[in-house]
Amino acid sequence: MFLCDYHTHTRFSFDGDPSSTHDAMCRRALEIGLDHIAFTDHFDVNAEVEGLYDFPYDADAAFASMMEVKEKYKGRLHVLCGIELGNAPQYPAEAKAALEAHPYEFVIGSLHNLKNVPDFCYMNFGQMSDNQIKKLFDRALDETIEVAQFPGITTLAHITYMHRYVTLGGKKLDFKPYYDKLEHLYRTVIDRDIALEINVSTLWKGLGISLPTMELLKLYKDCGGSLVTIGSDAHAPENLGKAIRKGYAILQTVGFNEVVTIQNGQRVLQSIR
Ligand SMILES: [Zn+2]
Ligand SMILES: [Zn+2]
Repeated sequence: MFLCDYHTHTRFSFDGDPSSTHDAMCRRALEIGLDHIAFTDHFDVNAEVEGLYDFPYDADAAFASMMEVKEKYKGRLHVLCGIELGNAPQYPAEAKAALEAHPYEFVIGSLHNLKNVPDFCYMNFGQMSDNQIKKLFDRALDETIEVAQFPGITTLAHITYMHRYVTLGGKKLDFKPYYDKLEHLYRTVIDRDIALEINVSTLWKGLGISLPTMELLKLYKDCGGSLVTIGSDAHAPENLGKAIRKGYAILQTVGFNEVVTIQNGQRVLQSIR
């Protein structure tokens, strides 16, 4: 069975594990039988511009390092030089410049924090009222739609990123009230001819949900969505490729039998059956 992981982080990411070198990730990829790996280190444009993290993303060094392993593992492992462009609409000029600085083969667009609000991962949803959570999620969808509209994106990642932390806080999110907005989001994805990511980090972390959930993947399918990418969101070699098969099972249940891959700069659909 074709196996790929199109959402991975190395130590070039502010939150990457020190053991997560490109080479260590490739070795692990071969060990677990991956056919493709896409490196997608964080470039959260607001954090870069405002200097929020301990160290900035060294795009030049990261790209050189990706190219090195791409060459080294040629014929054994398909390596994609990518990036996770976070919060692009918050600083569009800087985000555009970052994408133009290197010939990235795969670009994840994502939203980790609302405008002028810290990353959802730093929030304690357990202490929030249901009403507060609903308001934040509504804003998150609005700003995710803006991310989907940003030029140069290959796939829109973990559209329910906030749901990971809501779940960790012991709270539930009912998506029904957001169906109209979600449909708007999905139509934007389809119109822009980009893919939607199923992020399985929450599966291997034991939260019992994928990002987005099966329910929301079905809504995407019902809206006419057909392009999906899949990623573990591993930040260390030991987590690479985890729960990808579980993600495939969810996709197949919903009716997606192929995932988007990138080969020679072209989008190629690979069967996951
Ligand atoms: Zn991260
Ligand atoms: Zn992300």
